[in-house]
Amino acid sequence: MKVNYKYLFGPVPSRRLGQSLGVSPIPPKTCNYSCVYCQIGRTTHFTNIRQDFFPKEEILEEIRSYIESSINFDYITFVGEGEPTLCKSLGWIIRSTKELTDKPIAVITNGALLYDLETRNDLLAADVILPTLDATTQELFKKINRPIKELTIDKIIQGMQDFRSEFQGQIWMEVMLVKGLNDTSDTISKINAVLDKLGCDRVYVNVPIRPPAENWVKIPDKNRVLEICNELNAYNIAHYESIQGFQIRDDEDMESQILKITTRHPLRESQILAMFDLPSQDIIQLLHDMSKKGKLKRVIHNKQIFWLNANSKIK
Ligand code: SF4
Repeated sequence: MKVNYKYLFGPVPSRRLGQSLGVSPIPPKTCNYSCVYCQIGRTTHFTNIRQDFFPKEEILEEIRSYIESSINFDYITFVGEGEPTLCKSLGWIIRSTKELTDKPIAVITNGALLYDLETRNDLLAADVILPTLDATTQELFKKINRPIKELTIDKIIQGMQDFRSEFQGQIWMEVMLVKGLNDTSDTISKINAVLDKLGCDRVYVNVPIRPPAENWVKIPDKNRVLEICNELNAYNIAHYESIQGFQIRDDEDMESQILKITTRHPLRESQILAMFDLPSQDIIQLLHDMSKKGKLKRVIHNKQIFWLNANSKIK
């Protein structure tokens, strides 16, 4: 039976979480940051106020329905096209999901709201939290993450420290490197000092491999990324994007599957070719036809071809 989910997507292959069933509890582009590297474009709903954007029972009902469908996956991941902790009922949804399944629950977050006690309490029921730390000074924080006015990096780092002392699960921190902004020796030493204090279980170094919100964003040189990984004692997940593993459904046509995935996840052309068991020229023809009909956009980034949903805000 074909089911169209409103809040669920995937499972998609994740470099850190295997086959990850995504749950988006917020509307698109709802965030308290507007990062220069954001793969879904500039933030259009800029807010730091936690609220229930959708009925929490509806979100839980979709999760229940998916679990009952018995399709396999590794993690349930709260992620969204924006910042999922802005969902006020996130804690209720996580705790209720825990009653339905033993699958581990992950939350991918920018970590900004960890200064807030209610948000920290909401995240305690999860198994893995994946926050981000790209800067340790307010000046650089504003340049890279472009946060909403009231957020300061000192308050956020303190929140991360508080959360570490309260949370029994895993914290996997990500540092996204932007060439010329946070890949300098001085900045990396400062990030390293903060990471030491935070006691994360893992640190991942990433680069904006997918088309970013601002087209001037550049990826640091490969050797520099390796040096930084050594210094931060971090896993290097730069350039490691999986080219396979998107779950393809037999009961859904190719065009709608591509549209669904690209709504939330720009796809490299090579990924799309690997997903379907059809001649490459037929798939490429379909992509160009979809582009002519205004459904997809073709973007070159870092010398690779990406296909984006035309409704994406990415320029
Ligand atoms: S990268 Fe994440 S935190 Fe930054 S603007 Fe995009 S959704 Fe928000």
